Amino acid sequence: MAHAPEMPEKYVCTACQTIHAGTVSKRTESGHEYEAPAECGCCGESELVPEKNWPHFQP
Ligand SMILES: [Zn+2]
Repeated sequence: MAHAPEMPEKYVCTACQTIHAGTVSKRTESGHEYEAPAECGCCGESELVPEKNWPHFQP
């Protein structure tokens, strides 16, 4: 089975700005769907935003 390299979606913790790789929530024919980790592994904050949204995030 062909396996294309795939970058996981990344999420930024809004509290400490650590970047986390997303958790795979679903496997699809084109790859995977990701969801934000339940909480930040560094500080415990539960609000993580997708990296692509981060520049637009207003606390
Ligand atoms: Zn954090």
